[in-house]
Amino acid sequence: MLHAPEIDASAPLIDPFGRHVSYLRVSVTDRCDFRCVYCMAENMTFLPKRDLLTLEELDRLCSAFVEKGVRKLRITGGEPLVRKNILWLFRALSRHLERGTLDELTLTTNGSQLVRYAGELKACGVERINVSIDTLRPDRFKAITRWGELQPVLDGLEAAEKAGLKIKINAVALKDFNEDEIEELIRFAHGRGADLTLIETMPMGDIDGDRTDQYLPLSVVRARLMDRFTLEDIPYRTGGPARYVEVKETGGRLGFITPMTHNFCESCNRVRLTCTGTLYMCLGQDDAADLRAPLRASTDDILLADAIERAIARKPKGHDFIIDRRRQKPSIGRHMSVTGG
Ligand code: SAM
Ligand code: SF4
Repeated sequence: MLHAPEIDASAPLIDPFGRHVSYLRVSVTDRCDFRCVYCMAENMTFLPKRDLLTLEELDRLCSAFVEKGVRKLRITGGEPLVRKNILWLFRALSRHLERGTLDELTLTTNGSQLVRYAGELKACGVERINVSIDTLRPDRFKAITRWGELQPVLDGLEAAEKAGLKIKINAVALKDFNEDEIEELIRFAHGRGADLTLIETMPMGDIDGDRTDQYLPLSVVRARLMDRFTLEDIPYRTGGPARYVEVKETGGRLGFITPMTHNFCESCNRVRLTCTGTLYMCLGQDDAADLRAPLRASTDDILLADAIERAIARKPKGHDFIIDRRRQKPSIGRHMSVTGG
């Protein structure tokens, strides 16, 4: 039996290391219309649909975090735009933007559904989105995503630009796959006024392959780029782990997310919620808190607020990802699509 504790539902979330948790990322589905080689195995077993929180429950959970001082919500997945009726959630959450209790409602997407949704997302108060594109070559795109096509994604980018959404392109740097294309990706992104962020592969979940074959340290990429471009460190931050440079030749921003070569945990301000209501306090650790039981135990949010506070009190100092040939298992058993990248 769950007892209603004495709790201030609007007290801010401060973790044991004094970090203010102001950013929630929500994976609204573990399903996806692509099967990127670094993210999933080709034959993934997904959660039964009945295990998913409803969109109304996701709204209630996100709103409880907003009540506790979360200022930024990112909707992710899996592919968030393949979840049925997902625009309902964006519309519901946009009330917090209107009230001024939320600074940003945003999304990370593979872009495959943007032609259909870009305009409506903008109408829900979404201003900026992250679109993942690892290559600009159709054959490689197919090889990396297994099931994806490049053209609909490029059309989606165009639709997003037309709708007035600001775009950041994310690309995972992969050894022997797209390492010869980084310059092209920079010119492509910067040529359309978008930032580009490069990401190191993280050892999360079993894939049909060896991650040591994919891993490309961004320190190597950066050193190579310095032969071609002038990279100037800049203090620009988006509240995330990316460290940015300005590429003098293009005038655009280039970010590096380097969980493997540099630890970015000291300034971590975020937690991650899965589509079943499990809260992960760190992307790179297994400890998690169940928020579904307190959510469903009562219609007010007192138990939920208490469960959230107790979870934040367990937020660990940081992760310890390792990619190592001798260690055959991934550091973290769950896939990135469970907690959302
Ligand atoms: N489907 C959407 C997309 O691809 O943008 C959102 C979810 S996806 C899990 C979010 C981000 O995580 C993507 O940019 C993807 O490239 C990245 N990602 C997935 N698996 C990863 C891994 N093992 N290491 C590093 N990044 C990964
Ligand atoms: Fe799907 Fe995104 Fe994972 Fe690719 S990275 S398989 S698009 S969830």
